[in-house]
Amino acid sequence: MHESNTFIKKTTPVENFMNPHYGDFIQGKDIVEHFKGGNHELSGSIDELEKQDVEFLPKMCAIATPSGTVEKEAFNQIVDKLVNEINSDECDGLIVNLHGATVSEEYLDADGEVLLRLRKKLGKDFPIVCTLDKHANISTKMFKNADVLIVFRTCPHLDTYDRGVEAAKIIIEIIKKNINPTGTFIAPPMMINMTKQNTFEEPVNQIIKRMNEISDDDSVISASFALGFQFADVPELGSSFLVYTDNNADLSRTKCESVAEFAWENRHKYNLNALEVSEAVEIAKKSTEYPVILNDVGDNTGGGSSADSTFLLHEIIKQDVSNYCTVFFDPESVEKCAQKGIGQKVKLFVGGKVDDKHGDPVEIEGVVKNITDGIWEDSEIRHGGYTKYNQGKTALIETDKRGSIILTTLRQPPQSIGQITHIGIDPKEKQLITTRGVILPRPAYDPFAAKTVLVNTKGTTTADLKNLNFKNIEREIYPINDAEFNIKVNDV
Ligand SMILES: [Zn+2]
Repeated sequence: MHESNTFIKKTTPVENFMNPHYGDFIQGKDIVEHFKGGNHELSGSIDELEKQDVEFLPKMCAIATPSGTVEKEAFNQIVDKLVNEINSDECDGLIVNLHGATVSEEYLDADGEVLLRLRKKLGKDFPIVCTLDKHANISTKMFKNADVLIVFRTCPHLDTYDRGVEAAKIIIEIIKKNINPTGTFIAPPMMINMTKQNTFEEPVNQIIKRMNEISDDDSVISASFALGFQFADVPELGSSFLVYTDNNADLSRTKCESVAEFAWENRHKYNLNALEVSEAVEIAKKSTEYPVILNDVGDNTGGGSSADSTFLLHEIIKQDVSNYCTVFFDPESVEKCAQKGIGQKVKLFVGGKVDDKHGDPVEIEGVVKNITDGIWEDSEIRHGGYTKYNQGKTALIETDKRGSIILTTLRQPPQSIGQITHIGIDPKEKQLITTRGVILPRPAYDPFAAKTVLVNTKGTTTADLKNLNFKNIEREIYPINDAEFNIKVNDV
């Protein structure tokens, strides 16, 4: 699983797919040990298969934090191993969890290539059910090489466990020959802006409402809506819809068309919505209720960005805000703090080191308040369903303005409040907290927030599609172009 941001120059090597705890891919029984009891789709599938007393063979798990395009060798090493290890004579069906917005140096549609290779190895009649992230850019190649594609229903992704259960239930029914999934896939030429992708809010919740009505219909096996991932420059960029019925192609098509057309008709409602940096910091500074959470949209770590953008901290210092908390990926500064030790004064340049898109480093002075191993667990249901976190050695510096600056050794998206609480920050006591994301941080931070503000920062995950230089989209797509919608339906 990998969400590949093709606008980042640095490529993603195979090491990034290895779990820091195991020092390798997670394999065999370790997969059960790692995910059982969690909220991941694997956790859901494991529980359902055990509940139905179905024997299963956990094979391998290679997950990397979102980042740049996957290196050719990494992709082939992982997929060759996966394909080699799965044999049709030792099992009756396959559940595979992919992201759907993976790009390798060789394949713009890397997920489609994974499914094609599995299909070729296992044969056309072998049941394959595949789960996908809600940010999938779904291709015809993916659609044609799986019996059923199941996409997370919510953003933030809180239903990962349920989709894993759904995948297990469906594969069992296919194996028993109780159902014959027949699907329709429609990808209208439109992209829903990342700042409008919260499925619990207007206007996207209106699409979700219609999707839920379709899913609730007894004649429907599975119905999915993918938001799309705007930072992958690929031909299939955009939102898409899937409806599977039990061998009723007309019904699949009618239902899929109805919701795709609804989304298309409302496309103007899904455009960019975020405040400028100075305005956002001013709101946070003046607020009598706190904390105000500023979500740094341009440095969306969960979308592959650097996790060290400095635009917000520069503005916080410029506006002389006190009592704030911010997190930077900055291994070099962590080491300097560790060398000095807890209680010692440090003077450092933090952030702005990964590339030239995220602002200049910020000079700070403060006291090293704490140093941790950066490991914690969070049993609450969080974006992506993860419960175990590891951001490497972590340092907390406090400035004389009661600015708490947390420095990490590994890039960790902010889906768990543990990122700041494990090192001693009480979010309720801060005036301003920054996070690096759009919707991903909300389940963790919203319970503490007086207000959450999306900030239109520059960076590799800039919210404005017009700032991105797309080269590989082979069709006109709204809002980049004034596209037209000619329904292109694919049935299987
Ligand atoms: Zn996602």
